[in-house]
Amino acid sequence: MIKTPTNMENRHCTLPDHSVTTAHFAPRGDSRELVPSSSPTQEELKECLLFSPDDGRIWLNDQRMLLLHTSSFGALRREIIERLGSQQARGLFTRTGYLSGARDARLIRERWPQASAAAIFAAGTHLHTLEGMTRVEPLHFKFDADCGFYEGEFLWHHSCEADEHLTGYGVGQDPACWTELGYAIGFVSGLFGRMVIFREVECRGMGHANCRVVGKTAEQWGDVESDLAYLNASGGPAATPAPAVSSFTPASAPPQGPEPIGASAAFNAANLSLQRVAPTPATVLISGESGVGKELFARQLHRMSPRHHAPFVALNCAAIPDNLIEAELFGVDRGAYTGASHSRPGRFERAQGGTLFLDEITCLSLAGQSKLLRALQEREIERVGGVQAIKVDVRVVAACNVDLQQAVARGDFREDLFYRLNVYPIALPPLRERRDDIPLLINAFLQRLCRDYQRTPAGLTMRALKTLLRYDFPGNIRELQNLVERGLIASEEGQPIDLVHLFRNERLPEQGYSIDREGGLTVNPLSEPPAATLEPLLDTLTQHDQSFSIDGLEARLINEAMQQSAGNLAAAARAVGLSRAQFAYRLKKHHQQG
Ligand SMILES: [Zn+2]
Repeated sequence: MIKTPTNMENRHCTLPDHSVTTAHFAPRGDSRELVPSSSPTQEELKECLLFSPDDGRIWLNDQRMLLLHTSSFGALRREIIERLGSQQARGLFTRTGYLSGARDARLIRERWPQASAAAIFAAGTHLHTLEGMTRVEPLHFKFDADCGFYEGEFLWHHSCEADEHLTGYGVGQDPACWTELGYAIGFVSGLFGRMVIFREVECRGMGHANCRVVGKTAEQWGDVESDLAYLNASGGPAATPAPAVSSFTPASAPPQGPEPIGASAAFNAANLSLQRVAPTPATVLISGESGVGKELFARQLHRMSPRHHAPFVALNCAAIPDNLIEAELFGVDRGAYTGASHSRPGRFERAQGGTLFLDEITCLSLAGQSKLLRALQEREIERVGGVQAIKVDVRVVAACNVDLQQAVARGDFREDLFYRLNVYPIALPPLRERRDDIPLLINAFLQRLCRDYQRTPAGLTMRALKTLLRYDFPGNIRELQNLVERGLIASEEGQPIDLVHLFRNERLPEQGYSIDREGGLTVNPLSEPPAATLEPLLDTLTQHDQSFSIDGLEARLINEAMQQSAGNLAAAARAVGLSRAQFAYRLKKHHQQG
């Protein structure tokens, strides 16, 4: 029911589901047919890497990555070998690598659904190299998915795992590149749709100059029991190489309506709290910024509770005028006030046996607060104008922005009610604190909206995705959902959603970092190039300018502005305080003169 971290099926992003099936996947290929320029090229794969140092995240497309010291990887590896023995350790690292490989396979298929099969297979070698594990040199590979045939041979140069193994244990009898082998198996099997087993027939850890790996399908090898054993966490041979899937799914009500989506640690923590409190009758207070999905969580709580067969009733206290809220909550008895011509039950009674969700609880008047407190304590209510107490069996879930305690301090909210509500508080984090969930959420919204709008966009452009990954989302999940919807509407059918489709006047993150041609980090303007400022322009001009003429100065100014804004006319115009049209006119004039 709740989408949890776990399963790589849940982790994909940026494209609706139908585009990531094997439908586009050409079933035959040969490394000899490879053209270096065919997509995805090494350059295109490098563009998937985004460093977000101020935010503390590194992304490979939509996957969060980690820059880990090889020496600490080596230390971890040695400690695991010593504690579990090398067979168990080998299995553990093989499965870890398998997950990485399978995720990268998914990335390639989603991002380049139209790429040739051979290019997609080759991309795995580039990614494995880019991620710093080893430099992969394909010797040859050939496959035919229809006949279930795969054969490939690769050289691994300066494998990081072999180096760490050599540091710890010296030259040994057995191949040492377990993680990397798992990666190859995961990547190729993930693409091929059936088990392809790789074996290291030579390894630097055994004294060879390079590692040499050979891959074939399980059927072609024949005897793969021991290979499969490393892929199966439970120890026995694995029928299918399913990575461990854990699930918080409670076996209660069937899902109805949208559910909270997430995989981040912050999301899981909130989710665990929800599961713990759901079976109890306790009152729950959900706090969080506007748009974080409080009502969705409240509905989820209700679904997971023993009350799920009874009604879930929601009331936003901010949406009802002060003088009507008591009648709305507790109902009205005939003759209570002028105009109350007939009796009607309030939300409390309508939620009988179920859950009452009170959003924006801080907006409840002091009189309403007293009545609510009584309802919680005595489990009975009185209708407005009524004389008799009505028993209610209702679980109250209240929600507030982060300001409830301030309201208590100001005397606007009853302290006793606050404590009565605050029995079990659940704080929902803002989206900017659970960025790892952004790809999941984008994907879920895209899928739903594409279905509703009967659309099939080609996902998001890389810079649109990168900007979303770094945007602050003051309006949280609701804002993300609105942006995706806006992007879908504004983009052309069959075309990817780009920045201009998503954002209007929002404050965009300034820049990201990616790797440049030399492999260093380079500033990577995410939206349009930042406007050059006038001062550095003047500095540059005076540095190598001896003769001043107004015309010459203007020409140089125009040129410098163009260069500094990377040819973006609008940005260059802004830098020198001209309109785009004025700037274009002068540019043309000087070009004609020059
Ligand atoms: Zn090796």
